[in-house]
Amino acid sequence: RTLAHILTTHHLQARYDGFTALDDVTLTVPPGHITAIIGPNGAGKTTLFHCLAGTHRPAHGQVLLGTRDITRLPAHARTRLGIARTFQQLAVFPSLTVADNVRVGAEQGRVRDPAAVERALRLLGLDGPLRSMPAADLPTGTLRRVELARALAGSPRVLLLDEPAAGLDTAEVTALARVLKALAADGTALLVVEHDLDLVADLADTVHVMAAGRIVASGPPDRVLDVAGSQETPV
Ligand code: ATP
Repeated sequence: RTLAHILTTHHLQARYDGFTALDDVTLTVPPGHITAIIGPNGAGKTTLFHCLAGTHRPAHGQVLLGTRDITRLPAHARTRLGIARTFQQLAVFPSLTVADNVRVGAEQGRVRDPAAVERALRLLGLDGPLRSMPAADLPTGTLRRVELARALAGSPRVLLLDEPAAGLDTAEVTALARVLKALAADGTALLVVEHDLDLVADLADTVHVMAAGRIVASGPPDRVLDVAGSQETPV
């Protein structure tokens, strides 16, 4: 059953006009695992997310969900298949309440299940008084939770998270880590782009390091983060 929900790319290449932003990217995002992507600004991390979510059409290569080739499926069709994402730039609806924002995720998701909406609100601590507050009035940390809850409300199999810890304080990062580990333990496949390397070390089963559009190192965090760290050490 879970084999049907492995997200893979094969030799993915993406371009903007003449510029190659992703080159020969082959990776696997397995269910029950947290896969992290790290790398400097401009490495191609966001472009990879666009290719996985269906908001950028790759020039070459494939994106597969299980054995199904989804390279040419539009974004909304991928969401229906269970690929949900959050954005680096928060994208909540400011005039809607927290609960209504989360319901939007269920409308667009794999299954439309009111119980999943309540589960997502509860998991992210949004089921109290916060649920009926307009999103416009809320601080960044809470909005990140709203966005994650909205992604979860459609019961996704694959979760793509673009810098989920950006703007969070230490306590919020700890809470986020707990939620993401629980989702993985439940069988969700998580792909996380993250600059906070302590969080990556704590969370990730596998880390891929990207630079200039390519994956330049892959492995468990204790091995890969050592390499990434030593490259930054001044001589
Ligand atoms: P960041 O950490 O800053 O988000 P990133 O690793 O996500 O960086 P991308 O945003 O994927 O990197 O960008 C990869 C490369 O593609 C960069 O050199 C960027 O300037 C270029 N690029 C991104 N979007 C476009 C676009 N719409 N048109 C032209 N070039 C683009």
